[in-house]
Amino acid sequence: MTDRPASSAFVIEPAAIPSLPVQGSDLRFPVRRIYCVGRNYAEHAKEMGHDPNREPPFFFQKNPDALNTSGIFPYPVKSSDVHYEIELIVALGKGGTDIAPGDALDHVFGYGVGLDMTRRDLQGEAKKMGRPWEIGKSFEASAPCGPLIPVSEAGHPAAGEIWLDVNGARRQTGDLSQMIWNVPDTIAYLSAYFTLAAGDIIMTGTPSGVGAVQRGDVLSGGVDGIGTLDVRVV
Ligand code: MN
Repeated sequence: MTDRPASSAFVIEPAAIPSLPVQGSDLRFPVRRIYCVGRNYAEHAKEMGHDPNREPPFFFQKNPDALNTSGIFPYPVKSSDVHYEIELIVALGKGGTDIAPGDALDHVFGYGVGLDMTRRDLQGEAKKMGRPWEIGKSFEASAPCGPLIPVSEAGHPAAGEIWLDVNGARRQTGDLSQMIWNVPDTIAYLSAYFTLAAGDIIMTGTPSGVGAVQRGDVLSGGVDGIGTLDVRVV
């Protein structure tokens, strides 16, 4: 467990706490960890060359300081194949371990729309060599996110369209009901391996249609009943 000394006790200035805006509020949601679910829609698993049958979920993390609420995505260094992945974001207002699926939604503060931007070439090399995915997934500004909408306003969406347009042309479409591991099951599964806490967010995977971005592209995505997200690649 981390000690929390007074700020005057640090030898350098502590970094700011990463956070997301909350719709209808001046207060922000402080982000502790970002968990991401891999291959959680069957059609996306197939397009990436994998079996879409229900295998146990797998996870990776992005660093909270990769959150990007600017509406601008700077094309990252060391890649020439950067992909968009539109995703539903789940924000936890309460933590726990070994959370039962039937109790899992009680832990949700709200939902949002995000992009799991991916240096696909670097991820591909890492996969081939059996190495971790960090270099492909967890780089600066790699998690563009819109505001969170609290459960009190959005409820718990189990179905609804999720989409992404690039320069006005539809590229990704799916429905939340097509998730291989739905939100309660994902929270329950994660909580068996990690101690979840208030402030953790989960990026729940992307539907099919992923592809490369170019500088100048405008990405416009959304989830029915949750919100939209507009990001320009520069
Ligand atoms: Mn993803």
